[in-house]
Amino acid sequence: MGTNPKDEILALLGESAEHARYLGELGVETVALTTERTAVAATAALSPLANDTSSERKGNPPLGRQLAPESALFAREPPAQLASQDSLFTGLAPAKPLFARSTETLENIWSDIGDCTRCGLCEGRTQVVNTHGNPKARLMFVGEAPGADEDAQGKPFVGRAGQLLTRMIEAMGMKREDVIIGNVNRCRPPGNRQPTLEEAAICRPFLFREIAAVQPEIIVVMGNTALRNLLEVREGITRVRGQFQDFRGIKVMPTFHPAYLLRDPSKKRETWEDLKKVRDYLDSTARSASQ
Ligand code: SF4
Repeated sequence: MGTNPKDEILALLGESAEHARYLGELGVETVALTTERTAVAATAALSPLANDTSSERKGNPPLGRQLAPESALFAREPPAQLASQDSLFTGLAPAKPLFARSTETLENIWSDIGDCTRCGLCEGRTQVVNTHGNPKARLMFVGEAPGADEDAQGKPFVGRAGQLLTRMIEAMGMKREDVIIGNVNRCRPPGNRQPTLEEAAICRPFLFREIAAVQPEIIVVMGNTALRNLLEVREGITRVRGQFQDFRGIKVMPTFHPAYLLRDPSKKRETWEDLKKVRDYLDSTARSASQ
């Protein structure tokens, strides 16, 4: 039996009102129609990535038996598809060496991490909080470290900041299940202090292995600590946010951390501008792939 047209219209209006609430919370007052874009992006988000790179692996295990050497994750040659994507965004030629695609699964990596005690953050945590989401995601979000809610539930970005992040993703026309979300450090620092450089350096190779396994097209790095630990830059987030960066062949968009947006909602508008660039880039590559 067919659905009553009146019920369908009411359902659509309900969804639109809910979407408008998300946008309102982000400080967005005007937005282009997204029906076609959302369909393309959602379809592409669930498709396997076409990129593949040959890897030239080198053994270099500075951090112990179970950590994959960072240098093993980087290939010498750029993937063919990357060059055409970059032509859409001039001046963004990737720096070498590039990330090599890994044959590891996320499960392999998490198994390696296990009940990790490689840095001092293990002492105050309840559990290790691994990266979570779609293993074929085109878009990855990276933050600093778990907070109290994440430590309790074992998943990244599930507290208030995480709920805001979910709404930000939905405002981009995607679902949280389409993306993958993680942190540089996987254990909650005592008192929510910043992880030290040493703690970040010890934990970061796990994130790099996940990036090599997932090969996202874009990484949104959220907040100063994650920015500095991922890109190893000295500039602060306020200076570089909104400008595409290159992380060994993968585009990185720095923006504010959702926890900061909760403290200073006036920054939501700038964050939305940054996320629109990410959305537009993903749309452009999805269109190129379908032509
Ligand atoms: S923060 Fe990372 S390196 Fe440190 S104990 Fe936790 S999982 Fe291990």
